[in-house]
Amino acid sequence: MTDLDRKQDRAPVPKDWTYAPAPESRDIVRLRERYGHFIGGEWVEPAETYETISPATEESLALIGEGTEEEVDAAVAAARDAFANGWSALPGSERAKYLFRIARILQERSREFAVLESLNGGKPIKESRDVDLPLAAAHFFYYAGWADKLEYAFPNRRPKPVGVAGQIIPWNFPLLMLAWKIAPALACGNTVVLKPAETTPLTALLFCDVLRQAELPPGVVNIVTGDGRTGAAIVDHPGVDKIAFTGSTEVGKAIQRRLAGTGKKLTLELGGKAANIVFDDCALDQAVEGIVNGIYFNQGHVCCAGSRLFAQESIYEPLVDKLKRRLETLRVGDPLDKNTDVGAINSKMQLERIVELVEAGKDEGAEIYQPPCRLPERGYWFVPTVFTNVAQSYRIAQEEIFGPVLSVLTFRTPEEAVEKANNTPYGLSAGVWTEKGSRILWMAQRLRAGVVWANTFNRFDPTSPFGGYKESGFGREGGLHGLEPYLRFDE
Ligand code: NDP
Repeated sequence: MTDLDRKQDRAPVPKDWTYAPAPESRDIVRLRERYGHFIGGEWVEPAETYETISPATEESLALIGEGTEEEVDAAVAAARDAFANGWSALPGSERAKYLFRIARILQERSREFAVLESLNGGKPIKESRDVDLPLAAAHFFYYAGWADKLEYAFPNRRPKPVGVAGQIIPWNFPLLMLAWKIAPALACGNTVVLKPAETTPLTALLFCDVLRQAELPPGVVNIVTGDGRTGAAIVDHPGVDKIAFTGSTEVGKAIQRRLAGTGKKLTLELGGKAANIVFDDCALDQAVEGIVNGIYFNQGHVCCAGSRLFAQESIYEPLVDKLKRRLETLRVGDPLDKNTDVGAINSKMQLERIVELVEAGKDEGAEIYQPPCRLPERGYWFVPTVFTNVAQSYRIAQEEIFGPVLSVLTFRTPEEAVEKANNTPYGLSAGVWTEKGSRILWMAQRLRAGVVWANTFNRFDPTSPFGGYKESGFGREGGLHGLEPYLRFDE
């Protein structure tokens, strides 16, 4: 009997043969009605709650704790206790065992995490499945390897853990940002109080179950959910020794001001307005794929997104033509459909911000292109957008839109490309497309960006440090450099 015979009339009849729906089942995810905070290895009933939703359908998923100052205080006390009574004194090889365990459990449960990430955050399942989850596990594997080699990593500097790390993460890569923060902190012998973003708490809460499975000692990792006020309570808590923050430049600046003079260590990974620079000698079709991946990956909710495309004038027209044709093939819709390229915008607030900036682009005189596209009726959506005729002074060329919106500008010479690319308060990432190796190196030396990709974009690897220049923040995450913020080197 064939598969089709077996399914008989249960098999959906496609209306046309272009793309049949390929939804990933939600059954693997078991949601609770309400979640508390994870403090000292226990679930603590929250004093206040709020609703977390699916941005693709606006359906309510669960009630989440709105962390108060008292709850943050309890989490910091649990972290301090775990730090002082065992974790910081554990041999590195023992800490590594826990990190390896966490990495393996994440791999084993990756489908469950990927479905939950897409459900709560709106990103396409093929991205959470093929990017977020493998990279999150890879981060734990990578830092597990460093845990017993810190003396070799920093010879003659006697590395010691800092203490309790307060970690505040955004909503664009919820589990991956958690991994970027927790893995190096634990490898270095610190304990953690982490706050996920208000709109995407669910994978961080599911991660607590991984911690229990891995038998991580209670209090080593504490998760307190809530909004900016909960984040501020972590920043201000006198029992926290180090703050690691990823989010907007505005909040990053406020945190830096508040921490001035307190002696707390700080790393900030903030916004960006990356230049993706395409020279006329590049492989054009490959560059178009890189441009699409650079700005429409994760709906453009990416701090290092290639949101400013600089096209060399001699190839401007064929490049923009190819790009527009490619945009027509992007499928926008259900994040849980395996065919979806562009999912839902993370929140109503973020959608309003995107709409406002796009309107500003039109008012300032840029030319907008959006491919024909039918959007779902419920949920938060935005059609992949390209602006041409953009001047450097326009808001869409200056401000971080954090959505699927690309601004195309032009240049003639490499010098001009560098000058225009660096003409931004940010400096997180950049891309260069050319077949000449010498030009790649020449550009990389001059671009003021923490990461410069050559003939690719948005590639991440735990061994490679990531971080910004200027208003994109300071400190590095990933690689050997990512250990340093979690260590002190006093004699
Ligand atoms: P925020 O900077 O407000 O959020 C980042 C994290 O910080 C969240 O967990 C947030 O909580 C928390 N937070 C907010 N206020 C405070 C505070 N005063 N003290 C401590 N923690 C705080 O970013 P938004 O979500 O508001 O996004 C706004 C813009 O920021 C976006 O449009 C985008 O341009 C940019 N952004 C950049 C990111 C990056 O990776 N560089 C990531 C996210 C946003 P809560 O979620 O509850 O607000």
